[in-house]
Amino acid sequence: SVKRAYNFNAGPSALPLPVLQLAQQELTDFKGTGMSVMELSHRSKEFENVLNHAKETLTELLSIPDTHEILFLQGGASLQFSMIPMNFLGKDQVGAFVLTGAWSEKALKEAKKVGETTVVASTKEENYRSIPTLDRAALPSNTAYLHITSNNTIFGTQWAEYPKFENIDLIADMSSDILCRPIDVSKFSLIYAGAQKNLGPSGVTVVIIKKDLLKRIPANLPTMLDYNTHIKSNSLYNTPPTFGIYMLSLVLDWIKEQGGVTVVAENNKKKAELIYSSIDKSNGFYTPHATNDSRSLMNVTFTLPNEELTAAFLAQSKEQGFVGLAGHRSVGGCRASIYNAVPLEACQALAAFMDEFASVHA
Ligand code: PMP
Repeated sequence: SVKRAYNFNAGPSALPLPVLQLAQQELTDFKGTGMSVMELSHRSKEFENVLNHAKETLTELLSIPDTHEILFLQGGASLQFSMIPMNFLGKDQVGAFVLTGAWSEKALKEAKKVGETTVVASTKEENYRSIPTLDRAALPSNTAYLHITSNNTIFGTQWAEYPKFENIDLIADMSSDILCRPIDVSKFSLIYAGAQKNLGPSGVTVVIIKKDLLKRIPANLPTMLDYNTHIKSNSLYNTPPTFGIYMLSLVLDWIKEQGGVTVVAENNKKKAELIYSSIDKSNGFYTPHATNDSRSLMNVTFTLPNEELTAAFLAQSKEQGFVGLAGHRSVGGCRASIYNAVPLEACQALAAFMDEFASVHA
């Protein structure tokens, strides 16, 4: 059997072992072509099949309606921070942003370079430990779109329920929680996600876009930054990240084999509960960063009583085979990223380690 780390990296992060094994098996001869997917022409029938299969599987897993189109782009979620305002923030309009962490701030920063923006809610003052409530009255009448970050990778918070306002185009950065639970895609005008957490390797970004929106795109955008370019060419305008799309298609197949997003969500809930319960029963030894109603299923953030204990926790956890548990500097402490591909057993092992460490050092 293969020796696998308990990988709690924030992204790039764990991939399902069966996916890696299948990719390994197909590496030198993909479906009788005598070559790997990396060596196929992106114009070949074989690759087109891979790409279309990925689209079909994602459509099935998220019940994506006909009103929406799927794109596979490059430039990471970070390029979407710029493309979204370039394509959809009109001259007399305002981009409305909810600030729930560093990634929302970055999305806002890029939109500001393109046009008018406003912050309609923020929890920055409490170091982003919760998701704010949102008032329709805060949205300007000329709102171009409302932008949210569905899961805040660094702070470990996640929207429990998405804002619902009629006639407001909702755009969500789902980089760190896409496919972690069922969502109603029809409520979103655009969803984007870098692949390197729940979808596959880095290098490919999934965009799910409502076709209605495309008519708002101004003329004369740089070709590569215009969503219409990629829509018209089925994400094959130029050479796409072919291997990344292939890996993504295998990850989607794996989710389907698990029983789909509902089953994966149940498993994610169990995984998160294990670690949150170690925090909650520690009598204050571990302090959660997120408030209870904003806790993330994907990134569990917590601090220890002091720097020495944090260092000891990280050192000992490393010795026992846990990887990626250091928190981001803006929160400190620890973070366990428990994306879809992190197995329940890894979370059980971490919870046991946390309980043991607390009992010795509390
Ligand atoms: N948004 C969120 C929520 C993220 O977690 C990240 C990456 N950690 C990004 C955006 C940036 O993604 P990329 O590196 O793909 O540009």
